[in-house]
Amino acid sequence: MSNKMVLSEMQHTQSKGLECLGCGCYQFYTAWTRHYKNRTVRSKVCRHCGRKHQTVERVVK
Ligand SMILES: [Zn+2]
Repeated sequence: MSNKMVLSEMQHTQSKGLECLGCGCYQFYTAWTRHYKNRTVRSKVCRHCGRKHQTVERVVK
């Protein structure tokens, strides 16, 4: 039953592919998002250890 809760939470945060470099978990919240012409930069903070990660989303086509 608790597994279901974790799954839906992961889908909610859209962070399935991102693994925390601090504690190895997959749960983040987004601190900020910046949109540039061809890319989007996001700062994500781990819910468990608080480590910050930056992700870049690029347009490839
Ligand atoms: Zn962490």
